[in-house]
Order: sequence, then structure tokens, then C-alpha cells
Amino acid sequence: MIAEKIKKTVRDVNDFPKPGIVFKDITPILKDPDLCQEILKSLAAQLADEKIDVVAGIESRGFLFGPGLAQLLNVPFIPIRKAGKLPYKTIKESYALEYGTATIEVHEDALFPGQKVLIHDDLLATGGTVVAASKLVMQLGATVAAYSFIISLDFLNGKDRLTSYEANVYSLAGY
Ligand code: AMP
Repeated sequence: MIAEKIKKTVRDVNDFPKPGIVFKDITPILKDPDLCQEILKSLAAQLADEKIDVVAGIESRGFLFGPGLAQLLNVPFIPIRKAGKLPYKTIKESYALEYGTATIEVHEDALFPGQKVLIHDDLLATGGTVVAASKLVMQLGATVAAYSFIISLDFLNGKDRLTSYEANVYSLAGY
């Protein structure tokens, strides 16, 4: 099972980046090309019944599998980045993280009105990041088709914050 393989490979780092957080370090996954391919195929398989026009990946770990997933789905990839990184005109959203606060941005011409967007990140924690990403998608007149994660920390109930977007939430390994 893919979930077991992911859980066996991910490294838990206690008290990173601050006390009380158990950080799920996915870098060991990247050292295993077979597992990376299986993850990409599994992410794509979960989305088989979704209509997706674009994959939006969230900086920075959403950039690891997001572009590969977009290629498998044969759709464009767009980056949602931390403030100050994108070179062209952007729109912004600020949000609270499991640890701290942040602002994310997207290029104002990244999406067309009516496009159905898959929002992808490595991990769903409180959901603050993907709520902010969803607001960016909607500000550009597009809609959220689905959410896709490698890992979800289900005990933080991040999924509950996404119900208003009426999009399915997928993950490969839940804790
Ligand atoms: P959230 O907005 O709370 O859902 O946090 C999700 C974002 O923060 C993702 O980009 C994750 O990569 C990162 N993140 C939050 N908590 C953790 C954690 N315990 N382990 C690894 N990454 C995390």
C-alpha cells in the first residue's frame, strides 16, 4: 500500500521549526525514485474522475510533485509562491500557518476565468495555506476542482476548513 510506504519513508522531526511541531520531512521520499513514481501515479489515479484544467502548486514542497502531476494529467502547472518571489504583477493573500503567518501570491495572468484548478501541496495541516490559495484562485475567476496532498494531518481537521469550496480533498497518507 502506498500509504504504508510513505509512512515508512517520511522522517518525523520533533520540535521543528518550533517546539511542539512534529515536522513530516519528505526529503527521504525524494531519494527513492521508484516511490516518487508510485506517488505521482497514485496522485493522478485518485484524480481520474475529476475535471482539471490546471495544477496550482504551493511553494515550496508543492513544487516537488506538482509539475510532474500536471505533466501526467497533461495540463499546465502554475506556481503559488511566497510574497516577493514572483517577478510579474501578482495578487496576494495572507494566512495563519500551523507555525506562524505567511503571505502567498500568484501572477495575475496565471489563470483564466472559469478554469478548474487542482490545488496541490505536500501536506495538509490546519488548511490555512490552501484556503489562502483557494482565495487566490477565485480572485482570478477560476474555481477549485479538487485538493491533492501526499500527506494529511487529519487530527488538525484542515479538511473542515475547505468544505465551502465544494471540492474533493485527496491525500495518499493520513495521520
Ligand atoms: P497548513 O496551512 O497549516 O495546512 O500548513 C500546510 C503547509 O505548511 C504546507 O505547505 C506544509 O508543507 C507545511 N507544514 C505544516 N505543518 C507541517 C508539518 N507538521 N510537517 C511538514 N510540513 C508542514
